Amino acid sequence: MSNLQLSIVIPAKDEEESIPELCSWISRVMQTHGFSYEVLFIDDGSSDNTWQQIMLAHEGNRNIKGIRFNRNFGKSAALQTGFRAAQGSVVITMDSDLQDSPDEIPELYRMITEQKYHLVSGWKKKRNDPLSKTLPSKFFNGVTSRISGIKLHDFNCGLKAYDKAVIININVYGEMHRYIPVIAKWAGFTRITEKVVEHRARKYGSTKFGLERFVNGFLDLLSITFVSKFRQKPMHFFGSWGTLSFLIGFVLTLKLFWDKMYSLFIDKLPMKREITEQPIFYLALVAVIIGVQLFVTGFLAEMFAMQSLSKRDYLVIEKVGIEESSKTTIIHS
Ligand code: UDP
Ligand code: MG
Repeated sequence: MSNLQLSIVIPAKDEEESIPELCSWISRVMQTHGFSYEVLFIDDGSSDNTWQQIMLAHEGNRNIKGIRFNRNFGKSAALQTGFRAAQGSVVITMDSDLQDSPDEIPELYRMITEQKYHLVSGWKKKRNDPLSKTLPSKFFNGVTSRISGIKLHDFNCGLKAYDKAVIININVYGEMHRYIPVIAKWAGFTRITEKVVEHRARKYGSTKFGLERFVNGFLDLLSITFVSKFRQKPMHFFGSWGTLSFLIGFVLTLKLFWDKMYSLFIDKLPMKREITEQPIFYLALVAVIIGVQLFVTGFLAEMFAMQSLSKRDYLVIEKVGIEESSKTTIIHS
């Protein structure tokens, strides 16, 4: 394990114009502050000369490194790959489009190392983006903050700083990069704060996320909401609604059964309406079927949860009198 102070993880998709400028800016800041560092570019399947620019930068400065995907896998995959490769004790993520300023890095580093935050998220308080982007994002941030209980104004800011322990213990998949603070909180890293950062207008190229970001962001928000509540106990959700639905169906069925028996043996008159002619019959049928389905879904979800949780869903932070095993992760800091 090397003892670098900083790893700067930068996903890049079609950002050839920005890379040289970004590299020299970062190098300047790093030199001024005397940091030991590495810059990890992840070329996320660019179709322009991004990779050539990364290699060129590496020629000029060996602290600049690159990983290249064979196709576009998305920002989350790029970040996750960078996290796995990072060696610094503080990990910074930033966008490669020059919208985030490297000048923020020293202060972010200080907040992690001195103030002992697990995660510091940038807050683009004054945003240089069109209203069509800032308005929906206000909504998302409000809802995400309420649901997760994390007091952040800007969950999706590309500029963030992490204690190394956080990034080796979280998994960013799909498009969940929007919700990394939430994922970090699940894993028990609760010292999360924000820092107002400068946000610049995009200088070169264009945004890689279109209108679909709102649809996807909303669906991810639903998953996050559900999963953060019921991830470890899906049966509590499916089971309770399933039981309720099944009970309603069962009671209605009993009523139909009672009516039939009454007319057959007590009244001894034919029923006014056959059972299958009564709406209540169909309600009972549907309620029982839905109830059973919810139950089965709950069992399946429970089996998934069991499998993934048995792998590792907890973190050991300290031990006494126990031999060190290579399988357990110990949080430092
Ligand atoms: N990015 C990436 N893979 C993608 C989409 C984007 O690596 O599939 C990178 C992109 O190069 C940039 C960062 O993620 O460095 C943020 O993207 P963008 O600036 O397009 O997002 P916006 O600022 O519009 O939210
Ligand atoms: Mg951008």
